[in-house]
Amino acid sequence: LIRTPLRTSLLQLAKSGTVRDAVEKAPVTRGVVKRFVPGSSTDDAVRATAELQSTGRMVTLDFLGEDTLDLAQAQATRDAYLTVLRRLSDAGATAGGRAEVSLKLTALGQLLPGDGRKIALEHAREVCEAAAAADTTVTLDMEDHTTTDATLEALREIRVDFPWVGAVLQAYLHRTEADCRDLAHAGSRVRLCKGAYNEPASVAFQGADVDRSYVRCLKVLMAGEGYPMVASHDPRLIEIAGALAAKHGRDPHSFEYQMLFGIRPEEQQRLADRGDQMRVYVPYGDDWYGYFMRRLAERPANVGFFLRGVATR
Ligand code: FAD
Repeated sequence: LIRTPLRTSLLQLAKSGTVRDAVEKAPVTRGVVKRFVPGSSTDDAVRATAELQSTGRMVTLDFLGEDTLDLAQAQATRDAYLTVLRRLSDAGATAGGRAEVSLKLTALGQLLPGDGRKIALEHAREVCEAAAAADTTVTLDMEDHTTTDATLEALREIRVDFPWVGAVLQAYLHRTEADCRDLAHAGSRVRLCKGAYNEPASVAFQGADVDRSYVRCLKVLMAGEGYPMVASHDPRLIEIAGALAAKHGRDPHSFEYQMLFGIRPEEQQRLADRGDQMRVYVPYGDDWYGYFMRRLAERPANVGFFLRGVATR
């Protein structure tokens, strides 16, 4: 996670409507996006899940969207989750949590004026009920730092009825080591990632300090009684996670590794083949712009790939 002017600019552009139009219309975009997003329909999501499961990998599905200010769109997002959970359950893909879903509360209405928090929570509960019926779990994605408190508060409320709901914590935030301590209890599922948003130094570590924080947080989670979900493509952190799990006598079913669809697929397979649990985060839907820009920001090579494609058209 390198803090460069390019990364900062891409993350700023991730919020720009004008650039969004241009990127979405560029002829090359579709091909590059496909590397990170297997498709837009429920069928595409179900197909990608089946393919990953056939190679021993587990899945968490994300119906793309964020920051909605439109109630109908928030309801449509909830409905998309209900549909995909039903389809996956009918196909026998969800049992025991092999395919679960990841939710962004801002896609479910958290930012709607007035009752936004209540509406998002209600939508999340409906998805949790569908997940329970499908014998699987739900994880709440974490967005930029202005939403962290609201998301953790929603987590606390949802866990009263659905104690298996998981949370994401971002190692780049100064607060996260303390949040890990709060959430390292029995029954708690925590996905630890570095963090993907453009955060100021007043709230977030920068550069190599993010990795140091990730290791401190991992130590807390692996020593705790919860279920750590190690979400990173970073070889060094993956090795440290394995060593900490061994140190604390964890068996391979007491934690899992997680990576994003299309990123380091050989490493995903290697971990699954050696008997570790590996879950792939599979985004699908049409609203891929913000997700795609965050992936470009993570790796300059991806920007080069994209621009080369534009230049050769
Ligand atoms: P990095 O330092 O970015 O990368 C380490 C190495 O991984 C690189 O050297 C490269 O070899 C490889 N790599 C990383 N990214 C790419 C790429 N785009 N293309 C090709 N190779 C790459 N962030 C949030 O803020 N909130 C969330 O809710 C959230 N959920 C996530 C869920 C999952 C399952 C995962 C895996 C990530 C999630 N993230 C989330 C994103 C995360 O915060 C990071 O931005 C992202 O994972 C990149 O960090 P990294 O740990 O892989 O390390």
